[in-house]
Amino acid sequence: MLEQLNFIKQCRKYDLTLWQCPNFLIIIIGLVTIIAMLGTYAVAIEYAQPEIVALIVIGVTAILFIIGYLVLQSFEKLAQANRMKSEFVSIVSHQLRTPLTSIKWTLNLMMLKEKDSLTKEQLEKLITIKESNQRMVNLVNDLLNISRIEQGQLNLKPEKISLEKTIQDLIKEYSALAKASNIEFSLKSEFLPLVLIDKQGIELILRNLIDNAVRYTKGKGLIKIKLIKKNNSVRCEIQDSGVGIPNKDKRKIFQKFFRSQNIMKYQTQGTGLGLFIAKSVINASKGSIGFQSQENKGSTFWFELPIKKTLKQKILKHQNKKH
Ligand code: ADP
Repeated sequence: MLEQLNFIKQCRKYDLTLWQCPNFLIIIIGLVTIIAMLGTYAVAIEYAQPEIVALIVIGVTAILFIIGYLVLQSFEKLAQANRMKSEFVSIVSHQLRTPLTSIKWTLNLMMLKEKDSLTKEQLEKLITIKESNQRMVNLVNDLLNISRIEQGQLNLKPEKISLEKTIQDLIKEYSALAKASNIEFSLKSEFLPLVLIDKQGIELILRNLIDNAVRYTKGKGLIKIKLIKKNNSVRCEIQDSGVGIPNKDKRKIFQKFFRSQNIMKYQTQGTGLGLFIAKSVINASKGSIGFQSQENKGSTFWFELPIKKTLKQKILKHQNKKH
């Protein structure tokens, strides 16, 4: 009973805001009903016996309370089912990851050790299997991240990160794919302080944004990455000359599983999870993310992250507050 009354804890458990939280709403309904009934009583007193009016008011209040409670109980059941679904996805993804990783390492080993004994055709087939396996690993990782986000268990460990170095490494990683797709990268960066973010988290965000910029560019293209210092944060912009996003789809772009119509025809691979995950990690790191885009011209995705303050800056801020 006491556990039920601690509605803030309950809402956190189901990942709900206060206004979606059944326990909080039932108290609000109760208060509103009491106020409404008292008002009715005050008005009704003019026209009938006060005792009878009071009884009617109490009766109506009790009924409203019961109905409200029943409605909210089903609400709670729904939230519980949603949580169970997230847990199920998490368990299944964990279980799938182990055999998929084992296939990956076996394939790598085969391609390395038995390279000379394999025919060209066999090697090509192994490369196709390896690529398909990697796509499944990526999908399982995305699902795992989604269930972590839904359960509020992202477990981010913020540390001091150089965005420039991280981007340079990723550009190197993407250079072969970019070259094959006739795409060039440019990176412009001012002298920048370090940002405070989880290492795997920022790699995930950048990988999703760079991957999208490459995949949603048809034919020849240029991807311009800019790092700019802005007050107490660092802004990263990734501009592509790709297919862009239709106006009607813009407000849905960060939603889970959303993919816009214009890319579906030629880029069948994708889950619509990358940007949702990127936004969740950025929000959890006290940053912000957004984009500008024009169909058939290109898109610029950007994010801003707070700068890691030095001890000197912290002391100065503290002194300024005092004065
Ligand atoms: P996925 O790329 O797997 O479909 P994302 O969540 O990364 O999922 O992206 C969601 C959708 O946003 C994409 O399917 C695409 O329609 C659109 N999108 C994202 N980045 C770009 C981009 N750089 N250019 C054009 N469309 C984009």
